[in-house]
Amino acid sequence: MSQSEKFNPLENLAAIRREFGEHGGVNMSVESSSTFTVLKSGTMPDIFAGKIGPEQGGCYLYGRHFNPTVHALSCELAAIEGTQSAYCTASGLSAIAAVIFHCCDHGDHIISSNAVYGGTHALLNEFLPVKSDIETTFVDVTNYDAIEEAFTEKTRLLFLESISNPTLIVADIPRLAEIAHRHNALLVIDNTFSPMILSPRKLGADIIVHSLTKFINGSSDIIGGAICADRDLIHGMIDLHMGPLMLLGPTMDPRVAFQVSMRLPHLGIRMTEHSRRAMYFAQRLAELDLQVSYPGLQTHTQYDILKRDMNPEFGFGGIFTLDLGTQEKAYKFMDALQNDQQFGLIAVSLGYFDSLISCSASSTSSELSDEDLAYAGISQGLVRISIGYTGTVQQRWNQFENAMKAVELI
Ligand SMILES: *Cc1c(COP(=O)(O)O)cnc(C)c1O
Repeated sequence: MSQSEKFNPLENLAAIRREFGEHGGVNMSVESSSTFTVLKSGTMPDIFAGKIGPEQGGCYLYGRHFNPTVHALSCELAAIEGTQSAYCTASGLSAIAAVIFHCCDHGDHIISSNAVYGGTHALLNEFLPVKSDIETTFVDVTNYDAIEEAFTEKTRLLFLESISNPTLIVADIPRLAEIAHRHNALLVIDNTFSPMILSPRKLGADIIVHSLTKFINGSSDIIGGAICADRDLIHGMIDLHMGPLMLLGPTMDPRVAFQVSMRLPHLGIRMTEHSRRAMYFAQRLAELDLQVSYPGLQTHTQYDILKRDMNPEFGFGGIFTLDLGTQEKAYKFMDALQNDQQFGLIAVSLGYFDSLISCSASSTSSELSDEDLAYAGISQGLVRISIGYTGTVQQRWNQFENAMKAVELI
């Protein structure tokens, strides 16, 4: 039995203490205060010293540090990821940046997958070396020799995405965790593409980051992020003197936390349906001998890894790619999908209830140079589709087929 089979994110989420509303409401109240009263002034120093706090007596101080509504969402995300603790931030990228600043000092080194979100790539490749002398070596996460060789005495983090954006490479998390730990580094997994599906902590990762903007939120109306890790690490990150969350202040608004929390009860159902539909499309496209990539297809290079590590009821994820060869053809196809067939929307982002279609090389990965695009395996004609669950599968497939015929793909 794999480690993740023993762990069920749905059961863990259902098992945590329920937050009721102030007047006994079935939903928690939104605590929209930025500052909190204490009954006795002598309590204040103890809160500042960290002797009492949200988890020690339910004491709050100031909203950039802790807010009860944001804390409740954090507890839910920790339950989903099976970590001791979590902290929610204003965006996915601020969660990633805070982890890096907490774990790395000036002059330290990071090893990152070469296939990461464009913003993450720019942060690692351009921003950090200039601003803080933190250098990153980019590697192919399936090339274990190259990873071993990339470690230096200064390497603090091995950073990668559970399922990479947009190339859908599935990381062998247990193996990578072993490598990172042997070199005294921490394994950080961006689990944005596979909430519920993969539980990286249970597979050996140390820190899990999320963009809550995508599947977890599910309605493309909110930007948010989260860090899930051990209690000590999260506490260190909110330290009054050296904590990047406290001092750089990427705070989540409690109203946002409430809205995200209201969508977690159906996250599992949504992931299962996204996956079911993505699998249907991927199989049909594979039957047509098209250049489709989906980790649920047995022809996918890391199919066996995902099959081994996944929490099976949520499927193989809601994203597949179709390579049309050239950008011109990709654009024509996307226009036909959106404007002639009403199949989804040409937009970046993912995890929305409708399908979102983008051409990665000229959008979410446009931060990469042509050389880096080639290294990451992102071709100019690669169309990424985050499959939605509106309409019926048959209706959506007919629209897709019509668009493929219009550009003479079939
Ligand atoms: C979108 C995304 C991010 C950045 O998240 P924001 O919420 O937009 O800051 C990071 N990683 C991955 C894999 C993403 O898709």
